Amino acid sequence: MKHTYRKRWGQNFLQDPNFIRKIIDIAQVESTDVVLEIGPGLGALTSELGKKVSRVIAVEIDPLLIEPLRKNLPANVEVVHQDFMKFDLDQFKDPYTVVGNLPYYITTPILFKVLEHPGWVRSIFMVQKEVADRLFARPGTKDYGRLSVMIQAGAAIQKEFSVPPTVFYPQPSVESTVISMMRRSSLDIDMELFSEIVRLAFGQRRKKLRNTITNYLQNELMIKFGEMRPETLSVEDFVEISTCCNRT
Ligand code: SAM
Repeated sequence: MKHTYRKRWGQNFLQDPNFIRKIIDIAQVESTDVVLEIGPGLGALTSELGKKVSRVIAVEIDPLLIEPLRKNLPANVEVVHQDFMKFDLDQFKDPYTVVGNLPYYITTPILFKVLEHPGWVRSIFMVQKEVADRLFARPGTKDYGRLSVMIQAGAAIQKEFSVPPTVFYPQPSVESTVISMMRRSSLDIDMELFSEIVRLAFGQRRKKLRNTITNYLQNELMIKFGEMRPETLSVEDFVEISTCCNRT
């Protein structure tokens, strides 16, 4: 199909059947699964997913892609024309898997949106290599920040494989990485509070925590963490702060 590629929507479409197959394999989907796909594009992943699972909901922002997608995809694929950031995830009544070769301009907000929703079980995302480095970063490194803490707290994540620019059309200028995430359903924290503390702490990452998350550091917590900067705290430290301050 002839398509006008929209750079502003991060349109780099996968062309290589081997990489498409590898992503579908990693998704480990079964015939009873429900899959949400973010940004189906020309449907490279969507049609393969449609063959394997009971239902696919594919959310695409580009109006020019909707009709061709609806025409070419199997009946168990529902194509929704919407900005994913406005899409209501509460419509999933059962656990679902998320798949997406994510548009690079909006990767972080998409990751946060998925992470905050309690209904997903497993996610497979293709992201820019630099974003993957931030997701997996350890404390004390330059890549370690809000994104690293939020993702590592909310999910068990794994780097699957790298993807070169040559397998896309048009080719992006960067390398990509496929990652998988399993939601930590046993995590016993107030996610909203946790998210607020991490956001405030990294909002001014050169400042000591006594100046940024003052209201959340009472007594022992202030003694333990007050003189520290956020990039030196582990994910477990942030969990400790949010758990303890919730009790006081
Ligand atoms: N999944 C296809 C593939 O692998 O070939 C396309 C991937 S392309 C990197 C990203 C897709 O996300 C594009 O189709 C783009 O139009 C779509 N997209 C961009 N922003 C979006 C948004 N806010 N909501 C939904 N889809 C979006």
